[in-house]
Amino acid sequence: MSQKLIYLDYNATTPVDKRVLETMLPYFSEKFGNAASHTHAAGWTAKKAVDDAREQVSKLINCDAQEIIFTSGSTEAINLAVKGVFNAYSGKGKHIITYATEHKAVLDTCKYLETLGAEVTYLPVNSEGLPDLQLLEKSIREDTILVCAMFANNETGVIFPVKEIAEIVHAKKSIFFSDATQAVGKIMVDVQEEGIDLMCLSAHKIYGPKGVGALYVRRKNPRVTLTALIHGGGHERGLRSGTLNVTGIVGLGKACNIAADEMWDDAQKLSILRTLLEQSLLDLGSVFVNGSQKQRMPHITNLAFAVIKADSLIAQLPHIALAMGSACTSALPETSHVLQAMGRESLSLSSVRFSLGKYTTEEEIKTVTADLSAVIKKMRSEA
Ligand code: PLP
Repeated sequence: MSQKLIYLDYNATTPVDKRVLETMLPYFSEKFGNAASHTHAAGWTAKKAVDDAREQVSKLINCDAQEIIFTSGSTEAINLAVKGVFNAYSGKGKHIITYATEHKAVLDTCKYLETLGAEVTYLPVNSEGLPDLQLLEKSIREDTILVCAMFANNETGVIFPVKEIAEIVHAKKSIFFSDATQAVGKIMVDVQEEGIDLMCLSAHKIYGPKGVGALYVRRKNPRVTLTALIHGGGHERGLRSGTLNVTGIVGLGKACNIAADEMWDDAQKLSILRTLLEQSLLDLGSVFVNGSQKQRMPHITNLAFAVIKADSLIAQLPHIALAMGSACTSALPETSHVLQAMGRESLSLSSVRFSLGKYTTEEEIKTVTADLSAVIKKMRSEA
């Protein structure tokens, strides 16, 4: 009899919340209008749904609804932000600063812009995955047009001091972009409070559908100008042409709305379960936490198991969904660029990311702990 899968890979993606699904369903067939159709009720209904969703997203991150541009997810939002600033501000300079631990969507976009003449500084982090703010300050130049620093790391859950970074960036008259894909809807992310100019988020990380997300673009103090990536029709204030994914956008809005109400309780519950899991595994000995234990998300732990090959460990536990590093690179066991940047390269292939979510139960955590402990003891005895 096959065992039910225990899913501990919520950072890769989350199931759609049933309430989100129910909200989306009428927009497939019944309310199918094009939000850009101004001449009839079907279009008006779709437009109203998009407007409502825009309000829901903006409420969660405390911005004006006009500052939300819907995209196909965070990868597209990152491309629009980084390439969009590069194209719009190249008269001022071509220097971009980012961190070695950013998601590949940021790093690969920066690499691409280097082929077009951008000069990119990839700043290091310390062994806890945290940045050196003095180094950031020293690295910003007259021609620095953009600083990219993620809110919470997808592999370790480490939370960057975003507000302090924003202050430094603004004092030097540059623009600050934060990839908040793993933070929005799970902890407080307030773009006014944090001083963020551009920020991405993605529905499928917060119990919404895949293929939809948003870019927050600040409209005042400072007003950020972007050059569009996709042209044709002028949707989304000309920044993202193409017929709007009304169903997905409705789902994103509802997911944000639920998160606003429930994320505090979820975070509290998850932090207790994470501690239970982490402590039981640390008790095995020769197990190490990758990343700061003070500044991190409540639902993630990234653990290194000395002497153990993480891919072999995961293969022996097919009833538990776990990740080695990030999902995008986990098809092949390769060193995580995040752990490498933290100076933990030697432990990288022994590291497992556990990311819990709102449907994780105490019973599941107890099963995971027991099964993982048994396999680790066996693997170590055979080593
Ligand atoms: N940024 C971070 C930190 C992520 O974790 C992810 C998804 O894994 C992305 C960006 C890409 O998001 P999307 O799947 O919406 O393109």
